[in-house]
Amino acid sequence: MNIQENYSTIKKQLPENVQLVAVSKTHPVSAIQEVYDLGQRVFGENKVQELTEKYPLLPKDIQWHLIGHLQTNKVKYIAEFIDTIQSVDSEKLIREINKEAAKHNRIIKVLLQVKIAEEESKFGLDIHEAKSIFEQFLSGEFQNINITGLMGMATFTDDVNQIKKEFLILKRLFDELNQLKHLETLSMGMSDDFPAAIECGANSVRVGSAIFGRRDYSK
Ligand SMILES: *Cc1c(COP(=O)(O)O)cnc(C)c1O
Repeated sequence: MNIQENYSTIKKQLPENVQLVAVSKTHPVSAIQEVYDLGQRVFGENKVQELTEKYPLLPKDIQWHLIGHLQTNKVKYIAEFIDTIQSVDSEKLIREINKEAAKHNRIIKVLLQVKIAEEESKFGLDIHEAKSIFEQFLSGEFQNINITGLMGMATFTDDVNQIKKEFLILKRLFDELNQLKHLETLSMGMSDDFPAAIECGANSVRVGSAIFGRRDYSK
């Protein structure tokens, strides 16, 4: 399978209302350009350093999403150009993003990353923290940020019922917050579980290896 075939196979499986974030981490600029040339404009990276190296080498109309854990001291390196930060997992981080966005006179879109997996390892806010941040946002804090939705990752398991159970927790929170202010994006699902995520209400999926092939972390 090559990238072009992979890409069209994935696109065919996505309903029209579901956004595809092509996750290009570890893959070279040439592979990203190849997918760009097929019409893709939204790409996701999980590391600031890798993103800032790739950004100047690629077309400027790419909408870059940061999807990995972000340290507050690195926000300044991406604040000028990042479209959406999907991995907001603390109040401290959202304050920093707001501050850096203001310096560039921008409004940065963010998703609150909520911890839904039973696994211990995953980053994310608990539901209570997510609600508290959202309420502060509604009350007018964070003038240079727009919270446009939620992001979550399910447990890494073959048990589809477990995965769906976790996705539905996030869907329920999404529906609740969406009553207070319209939210655009419910980001859940990766190469192995995006069909389950879409069944559970995802309207944005983050797909890497199913497009670009397996990642080689040795390079
Ligand atoms: C790497 C990554 C993905 C994509 O994973 P694949 O299994 O390669 O599709 C999605 N979301 C996050 C947060 C990631 O770090």
